Amino acid sequence: MNCFQEAKRIVVKVGTSTLTYETGMINIRRIEKFVKVLADLKNSGKQVVLVSSGAIGVGVGKLGLFEKPKDTPAKQAAAAVGQSELMQIYDNAFSLYNHTVAQILMTKDIVESSKRRTNVINTFEQLLSMNVIPVVNENDSVSTEEIEFGDNDTLSAVVAKLVGADALVIMSDIDGLFDGNPRDRENAKLIPVVKKIDKRIETMASGTGSRRGTGGMITKIQAAKIATAAGIDVAVISGENPYTLYKLFDGEAVGTHFVRQQL
Ligand code: GLU
Repeated sequence: MNCFQEAKRIVVKVGTSTLTYETGMINIRRIEKFVKVLADLKNSGKQVVLVSSGAIGVGVGKLGLFEKPKDTPAKQAAAAVGQSELMQIYDNAFSLYNHTVAQILMTKDIVESSKRRTNVINTFEQLLSMNVIPVVNENDSVSTEEIEFGDNDTLSAVVAKLVGADALVIMSDIDGLFDGNPRDRENAKLIPVVKKIDKRIETMASGTGSRRGTGGMITKIQAAKIATAAGIDVAVISGENPYTLYKLFDGEAVGTHFVRQQL
């Protein structure tokens, strides 16, 4: 058995570019597949925490805006519209498989205050013991620079640490970490395993990003650094076909595996 097969408590992060089409509208087919796999992983005995972006993206679509607004109040308003829509989508989709979801919206100050951190950990524990799937996002509508995580890759690593996850999976719009940018270099090769995140790895990751998401590969590497240092195995895989998650948890080598550090 490999570490992903053995993992009991998993955090899965999905980004806006996986959840939406190029048009900015929600990719219903993909979300339905994704939810089905998560529900099934839960049925197989794993505890699942979902970190989902998409509040701003879904809000932009729902408000009929052409693109993501640049100013903060408009972004925060779009997030407020989108977050409730997003939860409604998850709630409906998971209900089909008899699973209950709960919304947890985070800001950085929660993690920095020991009292509030303990509080949110207790909430996560309680939800997981009640067999609920917590769906986490940043509380974008109230976040200001001082209290924001900025991107959900980092948030997912923080959440993985808070809940003491065994594994963190970051679904991306790219197959994993490559030794060059596969969008401009045809022969760029996927790196299947990273044992240590050093300068060389960080350099490889810089410059690869997506148009609709917030972070590029670099924020994923930073997240992997936080999580692996806390003894959590991390996989960065493509979110294009959610069934890839089955392969990962069946023990197949997919994407890039960032190996947890020994504590
Ligand atoms: N919290 C943001 C949203 O839901 C996304 C941040 C990110 O994608 O990293 O739209």
